Amino acid sequence: MTKHDNLIGGKWLPSNTYSENRNPSNTDEVVGLYAQGSVDDVDAAVAAARKAAPGWAAATPQVRHDLLEEVGRKLAERAEDYGRLLSREEGKTLAEGIGETMRAAQVFKFFAGEALRVTGDLQASVRPDIDVEVTREPVGVIGLITPWNFPIAIPAWKTAPALAYGNCVVLKPADLTPGCAHVIAGLLDECGCPPGVFNLVMGRGSVVGEAIVTHPDVDAVSFTGSVATGSHIAEVCGRLKRKCQLEMGGKNPMVVLDDADLDVAVSACLNGTFFSTGQRCTASSRLIVQAGIHDAFVEKLKAAMLALKVGDALDPATQIGPVVDEKQLSSNLAYVDLARKEGAKVIGGERLELDVPGYFQAPALFLETTNSMRINREEIFGPCGSVIKVADFEEAITVANDTEFGLSAGICTTSLKHARDFKRRVRAGMVMVNLPTAGVDFHVPFGGTRGSSFGPREQGRYAAEFFTTVKTSYLFAG
Ligand code: NDP
Repeated sequence: MTKHDNLIGGKWLPSNTYSENRNPSNTDEVVGLYAQGSVDDVDAAVAAARKAAPGWAAATPQVRHDLLEEVGRKLAERAEDYGRLLSREEGKTLAEGIGETMRAAQVFKFFAGEALRVTGDLQASVRPDIDVEVTREPVGVIGLITPWNFPIAIPAWKTAPALAYGNCVVLKPADLTPGCAHVIAGLLDECGCPPGVFNLVMGRGSVVGEAIVTHPDVDAVSFTGSVATGSHIAEVCGRLKRKCQLEMGGKNPMVVLDDADLDVAVSACLNGTFFSTGQRCTASSRLIVQAGIHDAFVEKLKAAMLALKVGDALDPATQIGPVVDEKQLSSNLAYVDLARKEGAKVIGGERLELDVPGYFQAPALFLETTNSMRINREEIFGPCGSVIKVADFEEAITVANDTEFGLSAGICTTSLKHARDFKRRVRAGMVMVNLPTAGVDFHVPFGGTRGSSFGPREQGRYAAEFFTTVKTSYLFAG
């Protein structure tokens, strides 16, 4: 079995321990052995990044562009192989795995372009004969901590802007899915990334993640994952006075009004709620449905959900792959039990035993629920959706906004007035009209409000807000 090492200071360094990366579609299959990094590895990676920082900050935009462009090109060229690896380690269907790899490729190519477009301002001073110049500079050494649910796209959408804007990086991917991040590290190395500019330290969050976040020589941290870990990172970064960017959970509302096109609504909700096994922070977990369309909508969505094929991620017939691991599956099943205890009518949601050992779960629909139930307040992160019946548009907006989160929100309607009103009044960072709450473009900002996100937005040109710092220079030429 091949051992996959950490990349530190341009060298692939072996570790004392390696963890088994297992396939959630077939837990008998070990995808690979991946290094378990230590605090010493983090120290070495941060030191390498710090050493490389002045050189990379001074590298021309053309140099940064060429590196990112080449990584993007190779990712796209090998998307089939990497997508297969992604599906084997995370459990997304092969189509989703390849799609996510293509997205990572697009992200690298986008930021290759952005490396050429770093701009500033030249402003007139309020005093005579003085020029004022506002320029963007790299932040320095950035710690990137990523989750398991988008194992290639999220490392890409943090790494590419960090490097494009001249920063050096220490990346720690989720322990459950290190394979795709290892691919990105391999490509950067293969494409000539200078030693220390990008470092990969795999391992546990409590060891490697914690060491990155608390390291005195890290200038900023970008994190995606749970609210609990994100809140902890925010506290540490606040105490250490360093920049942080957090993307956390969601409890995303999808409103279906009486005037919706029923087929459009069912298709958006089926995709948003169940695809990628519901393991998306943008998943549509609260389906807020107006009374007039409620019964027809529920009947149609239920039939479509029950027809979904759950199975091995690599089987072309599979529409819903496995849950990522036993812990997440147990948590999902506990929420299905809780839904019953709270008085919901539960359709599906049971554990499925297939021919091979894996973490399979039938998608679940919770009917006759209220927004105060715990199943409608806490992020489940599995293939589970709740239906909440409301009387009218005003009640729908009130329920949609009654949550601690604010990532994505959707509405299905044929009324321009309702669509416009919803876009303005819903408290979320992203709004979808007649589209699933999940599924976003790669070149525009991604992020939310309230408990979902903290700090500047990710992706698109708005990523510059986090990955650069602004300098104001005054010049008197005499
Ligand atoms: P975590 O927040 O624990 O994991 C996210 C990343 O943070 C992982 O790389 C993890 O490492 C790392 N990490 C964990 N502890 C620390 C720490 N003290 N310091 C620095 N980094 C740390 O989420 P889980 O994977 O445990 O998932 C739990 C729940 O979080 C899910 O059920 C879901 O509700 C939510 N979640 C939300 C995501 C989103 O996109 N918003 C993505 C993933 C999960 P490692 O895992 O290697 O130990």
